[in-house]
Amino acid sequence: MKYTNSLAFAKELDKKDPLKSFRNKFLFPQFKGNDALYFVGNSLGLQPASVEKYVKVELEDWAKLAAEGHFEGRNPWYSYHEMFSKPVSKLMGAKENEVIIMNQLTVNLHLLLVSFYQPRGKRYKILCESNAFSSDNYALQTQAQLHGFDPTDAILEVAPRKGENTLRTEDILKTIKDNKDEIAVVIFGGLNYLTGQVLDMKQITEAAHKAGIMCGFDLAHAAGNIELKLHDRNVDFACWCTYKYFNSGPGAVAGAFIHEKHIKNKKLLRLGGWWGYDKKSRFIMNKKFDPMDTAEGWQLSNAPVLSMAAHKASVDIFTEAGGMAPLRKKSLLLTGYLEFIIGGINEKIKDRKLKLEIITPTDPNQRGCQLSIIAHGIGKDFYNALGKAGVFCDWRNPNVIRLAPVPLYNSFEDVWKFGQVAEKLLLKSK
Ligand SMILES: *Cc1c(COP(=O)(O)O)cnc(C)c1O
Repeated sequence: MKYTNSLAFAKELDKKDPLKSFRNKFLFPQFKGNDALYFVGNSLGLQPASVEKYVKVELEDWAKLAAEGHFEGRNPWYSYHEMFSKPVSKLMGAKENEVIIMNQLTVNLHLLLVSFYQPRGKRYKILCESNAFSSDNYALQTQAQLHGFDPTDAILEVAPRKGENTLRTEDILKTIKDNKDEIAVVIFGGLNYLTGQVLDMKQITEAAHKAGIMCGFDLAHAAGNIELKLHDRNVDFACWCTYKYFNSGPGAVAGAFIHEKHIKNKKLLRLGGWWGYDKKSRFIMNKKFDPMDTAEGWQLSNAPVLSMAAHKASVDIFTEAGGMAPLRKKSLLLTGYLEFIIGGINEKIKDRKLKLEIITPTDPNQRGCQLSIIAHGIGKDFYNALGKAGVFCDWRNPNVIRLAPVPLYNSFEDVWKFGQVAEKLLLKSK
């Protein structure tokens, strides 16, 4: 696509956008009487306008039916989570029996590591990325400790090369190969929260399996953002949150994937709870734990239905939009446009010793919708000024501004307007 930096061009792209009407399904924060320029769907997705209705149904059933709502409600709470199997498995590239909506992300990461991080003899190390999200670091460190290991010894990291910002697949594959007898589990962010880089999940999983190692991904920033093929890629396990691109509200219920080849293995170690027990005979209250042979067998507690209602509202919108393929198609164009606009700004500010360096890979296959930027010569002042001008983006230490144009609700006009605001701020800085 040959882009042009003009309002007319941006409007033309919006006019041709088959998903343009979806913007109206979301509630935008306001800035000076207009929709703010919202680019932090990577942090908290916007509220679907339909959420209120979905939650209200459950509030009404609770009021009218109380305990009966578990079986007699319009969406019986006992089986509420089952409504997600079909649509969520499609969105995650999984089979219906491989996904479960439950708990929250870090909780699910721990639960999955109980099953998939099982150190044996020399094999006790965890391989991850050097710039993993803090919560993932803490989860991995404490999992190592749970097994009696010193995290500084048990955790192996792959880092970007000197002078580079993102990981090279070849370095990940080599680290797996070089340490194959010592690694028990490989766990990476499928799409890195800081750099926006998408890893080659296929090659990493293959390399891990070749060495007899379990392989999983934290998909917090990938879920609802890029097309995934968890089943076909043979990924052993994965987890994600739903408040980012899945727009399901602050602290919303999260997701987990366990590959079909593991779900029927009842001997696979896990933490038990009554909701993981066979749902047909759950109320017999047998003493001995007998987990279900689907991903449901990893559930512990009965479902947080009010949170799930918000997730259902959002998942229904994704389904209505036709799933990830059309969203990704627009996303490639939209993020490409942001990249083009930033390139144009750099031309105009280069005499002023300023530069917006995009550290996210330029190859669209190695990124989702987010672009991560280092604002050389101005740094956090630029981020602060954007905020004051009505642009929602975010700052991650030490020096990264993240901007995520989301195909469900952002427009090409949003991106063009961002360019106007950013250029003005940079030209008048100092
Ligand atoms: C957002 C995010 C989290 C947040 O964890 P919660 O358990 O949902 O609070 C964890 N890990 C990654 C990679 C994230 O992007």
